[in-house]
Amino acid sequence: MKLEDQKSRTRLNITNIGIDPVDVEGAAQIVAELVGRGAESKSIINGGHVAAYACTPNAEHMMDAQNDALFMRILNEADLVLPDGAGVVLAARLLGYGKITRAPGFDLSKTLVANPDKYPFTFYFLGGKPGIAEKAAANIMNEYPATKVVGWRDGYFTADEEPNVVEDINRTSPDILYVALGAPKAEKLIYRNRDKLNVSVCIGVGGTLDTFAGETKLAPPFFRAHGLEWLYRLSREPWRAKRMLKLPKYVIYTIRWKLAGRPALNTQTKP
Ligand code: UDP
Repeated sequence: MKLEDQKSRTRLNITNIGIDPVDVEGAAQIVAELVGRGAESKSIINGGHVAAYACTPNAEHMMDAQNDALFMRILNEADLVLPDGAGVVLAARLLGYGKITRAPGFDLSKTLVANPDKYPFTFYFLGGKPGIAEKAAANIMNEYPATKVVGWRDGYFTADEEPNVVEDINRTSPDILYVALGAPKAEKLIYRNRDKLNVSVCIGVGGTLDTFAGETKLAPPFFRAHGLEWLYRLSREPWRAKRMLKLPKYVIYTIRWKLAGRPALNTQTKP
């Protein structure tokens, strides 16, 4: 079965955003397939190559997309959309999709770099404050010497500098590009450059590079196991409180969407 067919058959409609009910291993397998597909075309200059991309939305992003038609389109055109957050899983359950579990973008990103035998790919890390991507790359290659991070760059550059950023990435021609610019900035950068990037798969990875670099800590297992990562994060980064209110807001939004008979996109999205 072609990847596209598989995708459209299994994707769950959660507030007009298609979510793949995959676990982390399943997601890594799909990324590996996409890398294989991209490897054939990415080296052909001007050969019509378009980089595949994966998104990792949490409830905040799902809520934002309801008021951002471009962001919603980007999510729906992605080759892989992971249920990153507990809020997305809760929304899925409220809508009657029983079996879905979380597949955090961080776990996918870590799985791919931590298993070079299984995923012998090259990576480029883009994003974070100056020094973070470099430190993240150094830490990963230190821990997993067979993993190849072939380039990195911080995520603070102007729109005028964007072509240079793309050029730098293309010079290293990585299999996988991690983009950590925050959502929807990362997803929009990927989307507008996907036909210019000499990359097989781009993944929007949120704060992953900060964690690889040791700047932020993952929530302890108890919080992760009980869908309370947001609570741990709130305790460490209280300035996120306002943003996090989008989580309950999104749950209410999902219930209302369900009660309204799951109206289709054009009645939901402001242009
Ligand atoms: N960031 C960046 N450039 C920007 C804005 C943000 O590189 O212009 C980085 C920031 O330093 C942090 C990441 O993007 O490492 C955002 O992490 P967050 O967890 O907030 O991601 P989100 O949940 O919004 O995807």
